[in-house]
Amino acid sequence: MRVIMLGAPGAGKGTQAVRVAEKYAIPHISTGDIFRANIKGGTELGKKAKSYMDAGKLVPDELVCDLVADRIAKEDCANGYVLDGFPRTIPQAEALEAVTKKLGAEVDYAVNIDVPDEAIVSRMGGRRACVGCGATYHVVFNPPKKEGICDTCGQTLILRDDDKPETVQTRLNVYHDQTQPLIDFYAERGKLATVDGTRTMDEVFAEILEKLGE
Ligand code: ADP
Ligand code: AMP
Repeated sequence: MRVIMLGAPGAGKGTQAVRVAEKYAIPHISTGDIFRANIKGGTELGKKAKSYMDAGKLVPDELVCDLVADRIAKEDCANGYVLDGFPRTIPQAEALEAVTKKLGAEVDYAVNIDVPDEAIVSRMGGRRACVGCGATYHVVFNPPKKEGICDTCGQTLILRDDDKPETVQTRLNVYHDQTQPLIDFYAERGKLATVDGTRTMDEVFAEILEKLGE
């Protein structure tokens, strides 16, 4: 199963990608997580990506496309993968299409998690991310057992810099300008599966599985 998660920032792509990956026993590949790990590790890629991310802008296509192409060609992706946060632009989608055609293993579904902008703002304000393992919580909708501490690895939970209200609006604008056109891109190819992302996490997951033919 090769799946892409589409949706606005904060729509629940990461939350659902983890569940889909577990269900099909395939890797969850988040380009945002890859960049954050590179920033933490002080790599050249991390240094290049940081200023774009902090501003709520997209990292340039040329820094993302090869990275994903290399990642999905790895052995552990032989049975599929869930791409979370990629593609985010038409050139990225075209690059992915070219590389998957070359691999002889095209994407099966683009799952579009549909959430209106009003709901996104409260989702992002309440999101907390673990500085250690990157796990994501929500102060109201998915709180950790102990406030401010990750259930999985015990490290501290923080509000991501790019989840601060001033950056969220920029990210939403970027989403509407550059990423939303991908909905039509995948609809034209008969791969689009849109789900109602305003429902509970369990309900959204159930709808995704239904659309994936479970
Ligand atoms: P994305 O990966 O699309 O940016 P996340 O999966 O990190 O989004 O979700 C954003 C925030 O909203 C997180 O704090 C998450 O716990 C919460 N969230 C995700 N799905 C739902 C849902 N169906 N209902 C309420 N809150 C949700
Ligand atoms: P995310 O964790 O998916 O919300 O991504 C956080 C940030 O990483 C985004 O706001 C972008 O700055 C950057 N990023 C992640 N994935 C991509 C991508 N496919 N293309 C460009 N920038 C990306």
